[in-house]
Amino acid sequence: MLNQTTSDTLFTQAQALIPGGVNSPVRAFRSVGGTPVFMQSAAGAWLTDVDGNRYVDFINSWGPMILGHAPAVVLDAVRAALPHSLSFGAPTRRESELAELIIEMVPSVEKVRLVNSGTEACMAAIRVARGYTGRAKILKFEGCYHGHADAFLIAAGSGALTLGTPDSAGVTHGVAQDTLTVPYNDLPAVAAAVAANPGQIAAIILEPVVGNMGLVAPQQGFLQGLRALCTAQGIVLIFDEVMTGFRLAPGGAQELFGIAPDMTTLGKIIGGGLPVGAYGGRADIMNQVAPVGKVYQAGTLSGNPLATAAGLAQLRHLQNNPALYAQLNATTTRLADGTRQIAQELGLNYTVNQVGSMFSLFFTSGPVNHLEDAKRCDLPAFGRYFHAMLARGIYLAPSQFEALFVSTAISDELVEMYFHACRESLVEAHRA
Ligand code: PMP
Repeated sequence: MLNQTTSDTLFTQAQALIPGGVNSPVRAFRSVGGTPVFMQSAAGAWLTDVDGNRYVDFINSWGPMILGHAPAVVLDAVRAALPHSLSFGAPTRRESELAELIIEMVPSVEKVRLVNSGTEACMAAIRVARGYTGRAKILKFEGCYHGHADAFLIAAGSGALTLGTPDSAGVTHGVAQDTLTVPYNDLPAVAAAVAANPGQIAAIILEPVVGNMGLVAPQQGFLQGLRALCTAQGIVLIFDEVMTGFRLAPGGAQELFGIAPDMTTLGKIIGGGLPVGAYGGRADIMNQVAPVGKVYQAGTLSGNPLATAAGLAQLRHLQNNPALYAQLNATTTRLADGTRQIAQELGLNYTVNQVGSMFSLFFTSGPVNHLEDAKRCDLPAFGRYFHAMLARGIYLAPSQFEALFVSTAISDELVEMYFHACRESLVEAHRA
């Protein structure tokens, strides 16, 4: 085949060996078409693929690389930890240091348990909430993603009060029956679901700012309303801050909006790019966890010494340099405002949502406040835009239903490069 790239060759090989050729579905470019780019290395804002092409990275490993790629402060910490052990399976000092730092930066967290992924964190959090309350059901929001544990792979069938139906083969109806789903930003729907299931809901779990249907912000009063309802009904309020934690503010979305959940799930960023997650919250709730309490949860590699070294270095750097948040927000506001303006100048009535250093361009008119709004997007046009940007060296999330994550490595010059590519790519995507 003419112009066969190394990525094409590797993808063909991978597809014979790994389902879809990837170890996480969205990487396969299914929703935008084409061959995923196989990466070789990265530094700062730049990714280099196996063919030597370079891209400015606006995914940053879906969030954790907030300082850009290969930051010296994190690499040095991992290098220093490396000779001592890759895994002990026994307690280490750094686990307490990381726990202490998380508790300091996220004040609603009084005790925390380290795990290996965001999925594990969310899966454990609802088990703890169920153990704590003695109730079976959970309530989640359409379009929020909390990892791939069975209980979360439930789509809203027909509104707030109906029982869920599984969204994935392999999830049983038994599990689905315990997951209620309602539209995001819809407090009356939450109240109706709670009223229809009196004394049965253990937890309400949500992304306090959603990254997984594209970027969607909580509307005025939504988080406050959930907090009040949960307090009144004895429901455990869980903020899934796997994307927003340590990103939207040092204390995450809960600091930004001034709402304290009962439990918080974390991931990605607290490992600096190595596999880590964490769940934490009120001490009386966390004391339900084994070995002190009756809720079992464990992990051979949990608190891994390299992961804690990387995470501690990254979080300490963020804590010691609060001005980085102002820089990230300013850069992202420029990107979001500029994108909005370019779309407008081209006569495209599109929506740009932004909170802190996360943003999305939705290929639909606004507002986009929940999943049904996001679903109106022109997905073929988004796919053409994605590929036009990629060809111009801009690496975006390969799906309309994802947020972009900005790192501190994005300079003014790279913002200009992005604008130039954005304008040309929007034109190309809409050429008749
Ligand atoms: N919660 C949220 C909000 C997420 O964005 C993700 C992953 N994108 C998860 C949980 C699951 O995390 P992981 O992929 O580390 O299992």
